Amino acid sequence: MIPYGRQSISEADIEEVVRTLRSDFLTTGPAVAAFEQDLAAVCKAEHAVVVSSCTAALHLALAAHDIGAGKRVMTSPITFVASANAAAFVGAIPDFVDVSEEFPNLAPESLEAHWKEDIGAVIAVDYAGSPVDIESISATAHARGAIVIEDACHALGSEAVRKDGSLEKVGSRQGADVTCFSFHPVKTITSGEGGALLTNDPDIAERVRRLRSHGIVRDPAAFSGPSLQERANPWYHEMQELGWNYRLSDLQCALGRSQLRRLEEFVDRRLQIVESYNAAFSTHPFVRPLCKLQATRTSWHLYVVRIDFPAVGRTRAQVMEQLRQRGVGSQVHYIPVHLQPWYRESFGYTDGKCPAAERFYADALSLPLYPEMTDRDVEHVITSLLEILVA
Ligand SMILES: *Cc1c(COP(=O)(O)O)cnc(C)c1O
Repeated sequence: MIPYGRQSISEADIEEVVRTLRSDFLTTGPAVAAFEQDLAAVCKAEHAVVVSSCTAALHLALAAHDIGAGKRVMTSPITFVASANAAAFVGAIPDFVDVSEEFPNLAPESLEAHWKEDIGAVIAVDYAGSPVDIESISATAHARGAIVIEDACHALGSEAVRKDGSLEKVGSRQGADVTCFSFHPVKTITSGEGGALLTNDPDIAERVRRLRSHGIVRDPAAFSGPSLQERANPWYHEMQELGWNYRLSDLQCALGRSQLRRLEEFVDRRLQIVESYNAAFSTHPFVRPLCKLQATRTSWHLYVVRIDFPAVGRTRAQVMEQLRQRGVGSQVHYIPVHLQPWYRESFGYTDGKCPAAERFYADALSLPLYPEMTDRDVEHVITSLLEILVA
């Protein structure tokens, strides 16, 4: 079975984890800062803070900016539920802006048109790895005092073009106050589970570090507690605010760091596969490939096609089943989040709230895309889908 996505683990990756297992630290050790430094360098960001998942990173991004009750957090519905759930964790209202018709990234003009007074943050997702228009989104949000969080779970390694033609790395784009990544095994690089928050703001980085470990401070310069005498004690530390245990272990950091060295190799292979798929599908009357090769380097995480299922005379479920019978896994990314039962029940969201997202959901299909796919695997996926669509 060819799955829609999977990790690639090398002997070198395994070596790094084993070396860490034999070292003094399994957590809170030197592998954490080493991974953070490498991530910041690759993404050209000032600060990287690694955490236990991207869900944790999104949660801390909001918490560190004091976004909570009384605030609204906007995201797009074509995303994994975590992008919206983070708002609910902090007591804010998760709300949704529709996506653009041509590509399911948040539509800046919809955000501008439907702006609400209580919006405190916008979580903009780089769907499938394609950088969202953060420049327009941040122009709208920053002018009204809201922060912008880039959910770049799909886009580690992608580059974006600014309106003035200059390039910027996802992870340090000017419009984003913070950028969040995931290292879940289906993502571009993996640490098993894991995530990171990148920012150029030193105060936010420091607060996120504190919040990922219970709000505890160990730096004497930052102490504010009882008496100078008490503070001088060797065991002394302070819990200054309520935090969580969102740490990433040294084992995970060792794996993540080793994987990060392979990032360009992974992106190259993903781009090759996207090119083969596009060559095979772009002339098909009922198939519309979404992942166009772009002038900049795009780290495609998903390969998504939109299929005219009524014209094909088959439902999407039937096509997926026929693919499965040929050993080809496929998936749908995503059920629009506002239509999930919990969102309908908690916030009264209904069908028709985000029409472009709902249209996209009706005909999208993700095909297998991961670096270890062989050329034969790619050919097999192509011939399988083309056969099914004529049969
Ligand atoms: C995977 C993913 C997340 C959640 O990442 P975890 O590390 O699993 O918590 C959030 N947003 C998007 C867009 C994702 O793809």
